[in-house]
Amino acid sequence: MTFTTAYRKLTIVYVLIVMVISMAFSVVIYQFASLELDRGLDRQTVYFRNIPLTDLISNQLQDIENARLAQLEESNQHIKLELFYFNLLILFLSAFFSYFLAKKTLKPIEEMVNSQNHFTADASHELRTPLTAMRTEIEVLLRNSKISAKDARELLSSNLEEIAKLETLSNALLKLAKFQDQARIEFQRFNISDVIIEAYEKLAPLSEKKGLRFDNNIINILVNGDKQSLTELFVILIDNAIKYSPQKSLINISVNKDGKWVNIIIKDHGIGIAASDLPYIFNRFYRSDTSRNKEKIDGYGLGLSIAKKIVDLHKGQMSVVSKLGKGSEFLIKIPTI
Ligand code: ADP
Repeated sequence: MTFTTAYRKLTIVYVLIVMVISMAFSVVIYQFASLELDRGLDRQTVYFRNIPLTDLISNQLQDIENARLAQLEESNQHIKLELFYFNLLILFLSAFFSYFLAKKTLKPIEEMVNSQNHFTADASHELRTPLTAMRTEIEVLLRNSKISAKDARELLSSNLEEIAKLETLSNALLKLAKFQDQARIEFQRFNISDVIIEAYEKLAPLSEKKGLRFDNNIINILVNGDKQSLTELFVILIDNAIKYSPQKSLINISVNKDGKWVNIIIKDHGIGIAASDLPYIFNRFYRSDTSRNKEKIDGYGLGLSIAKKIVDLHKGQMSVVSKLGKGSEFLIKIPTI
């Protein structure tokens, strides 16, 4: 079913609801109005009946009664006609507003479905790339009738690399699904420094490999959050700072308190992000051309969208200031206790 059909169907449902209510009211109004007219006539008839017949000739009384009955019939007809026009007007107005309302109701759902479809297409594309690479390598090797043990070993180790990529991707997809759901995280009180240091230590071997220097100013501030997901958040941000920094450069991690917020700043002196890329880096599967093509840095463009979801789950904020070739500074604000 396309969304145009859905708009039409919902419009019809809304119009039907409005019309049933309007017609039910019309019936009630009609009943009341004709009852009131009837009562008025009754009162007049009683009044005339109470006048002594000597004062009025009885057949004239009958004429008056007939005229009043005809008047009642005519008034009833008028009320019916007016109610009919009123319902017709309601029908036109409700058709117009219902279509508008149906569009307003279904628009967010349509956007969600479209984004889900894009996501599925992107995910399938990313999953297919390593699979295609493995398949091609295996096919090429199988065409060779004299496969040596060395060739086979090379193929297997190359396949292992592709499998590792698939694993990274499926883990990222699972995390993305996990942090979609508030119910799947557990809130507790802890020091923000605990999770930052845990993330930092996890990545120490990577930063050592690049000979990076860290200048940290991490203080203890209590927050109410999910330890595991906040560790994940800082792993993503510190990992990016490491990935996108040149050898032996400097990374700063600092924590400070600002009113009801705890501010965490992760600053690198790496490749930076172009102003044209900045609005999109939190989108799923978005990677800047610099990281994808020029620098050829591994990644799927899912880290920052997972990070954004974790920050949202904590009712926090995340922003970035970056200059191409100079470096990036990510600021995360989490509410304190
Ligand atoms: P990935 O790093 O796997 O590509 P992310 O979602 O973590 O995916 O980041 C999206 C994009 O944002 C990256 O491809 C990169 O272009 C840019 N980016 C993120 N962090 C940094 C950083 N610290 N320095 C430079 N570019 C960055």
